[in-house]
Amino acid sequence: MKFLSTRGKSIAKNAGEAIAKGLASDGGLFVPETFPNIKADLKDLLTKDYFERASFVIGKFLEEYDSKELEDACKKAYSQFEDNDAAPVVKIDDNLFILELFHGPTLAFKDIALTLLPHLLRKGSDMSGIKEEILILVATSGDTGKAALSGFCNKQGIKIMVFYPSDGVSDMQKLQMTTQEGDNVNVVGVKGNFDDCQTAVKKIFSDEKFNALLKEQNVVLSSANSINFGRLVPQVAYYFSAYLDLVASNEIKLGDKVNFVVPTGNFGNILAGYYAYRMGLPVEKFICASNSNNVLTEFFANGNYDKNREFFKTASPSMDILVSSNLERLLFELSDRDYALTEKRMAELKNNGKYSISDKELKKAGQNFYADYCDEEECFEEINSFFDEYGYVLDPHTAVAECVAKKYINYSKSKLPTIILSTASPYKFPQNVYKAIEGKNITDAFTATEKLHEISALDIPKQILELKNKKPRFTHVEDKDNLSKCVLDFIKKD
Ligand SMILES: *Cc1c(COP(=O)(O)O)cnc(C)c1O
Repeated sequence: MKFLSTRGKSIAKNAGEAIAKGLASDGGLFVPETFPNIKADLKDLLTKDYFERASFVIGKFLEEYDSKELEDACKKAYSQFEDNDAAPVVKIDDNLFILELFHGPTLAFKDIALTLLPHLLRKGSDMSGIKEEILILVATSGDTGKAALSGFCNKQGIKIMVFYPSDGVSDMQKLQMTTQEGDNVNVVGVKGNFDDCQTAVKKIFSDEKFNALLKEQNVVLSSANSINFGRLVPQVAYYFSAYLDLVASNEIKLGDKVNFVVPTGNFGNILAGYYAYRMGLPVEKFICASNSNNVLTEFFANGNYDKNREFFKTASPSMDILVSSNLERLLFELSDRDYALTEKRMAELKNNGKYSISDKELKKAGQNFYADYCDEEECFEEINSFFDEYGYVLDPHTAVAECVAKKYINYSKSKLPTIILSTASPYKFPQNVYKAIEGKNITDAFTATEKLHEISALDIPKQILELKNKKPRFTHVEDKDNLSKCVLDFIKKD
């Protein structure tokens, strides 16, 4: 299957090339030429394991990949998750379910794609005849960085460099990244927020001179952010799997509709859900949940995207984003795949920080999406009351989603099953989660971890316990305008 750039001036001959390149050379994002419909296959998938469901869904887009190898790679990737299940669904109440996506090596949903991406990228670069060393540049709001470092650590022919906002991630998230082992990795703190990191990285990607310079060093760039189709496609699978689990446990009948609620930052996760819908998954609404950085809430309400607003640092740092990159892929679909219009809007975003869609497009968006947000006070209150009511500990991102789910049900009176995507372990944010439940401030992350364990009896993941004895390897903090120099220094090191 061919992959098209949302901006129309670049094309990839297959998924392998789209994944190896990461970003299209015209600055656009690669999208599949068509969405294969798998509605008729759902029945067969009912009895399958997660890795089989995943390789089936992924294989629909990655037609040129060897399907046996793909299935083996999925099996290997998802065996790194607790109980070999990458995406278990937990029933909380009548019609309320939590899809737990955080049981992987780094305790966030990013693991679902990033445990598999090394395979997809390796095969993709072989398919596209890339002989150079691949340097993966990652901008992270906290979780992608560690998941990518873990996935690509010591992988032959690949180097990886992560940029994170030095004051914009949780203590645990920072420690996870700065203590990363491996000879092919580098981690740099950036004086700025996630948007600064993402903008700088995107700029490096489209800097032809710089890329030529890298090529002289036998290096080409790729991306492990959700701008890379290889990040999105494994995420499409868990929407199907969650749905199938509800069918298999007789909560719904095949063909019934459900709602998914997604805590959203860069719009990657929720877009993967929309792709699942386009492939035939029966979904009523995707509910886009934001924190106080509610640029998407406004967009879905009135069709105006405007990043010129105050930036808030919140308890859900992985959603502290004002430029949601993957929205470009949705704009492309809403405009009936109008390249020129998509390009124009992205230019407006770059130049003025804003753009608008037409009433017709807004109406179309409203058929599949509903958006709302949850402020800091509501988020803490949600963690507290949810623990009271169900004895279940929500991480702050999932709490934002649950809070918005309530608002949606209240507004729509929907009686459909609601599936909340839980994107991180609460132990990545122990101080805030403990504070929400007990009302007490604890500054040290490991003390808060133990306290949270005491009150909740929730097992502390070994990945968190191991962190306590590790020393940070990467302490460098850099100005946001200086990242290309960091890249060169890293490459020249050996
Ligand atoms: C990355 C992340 C999000 C946001 O996901 P997007 O795909 O960027 O919308 C939400 N919660 C957590 C915990 C994350 O790590």
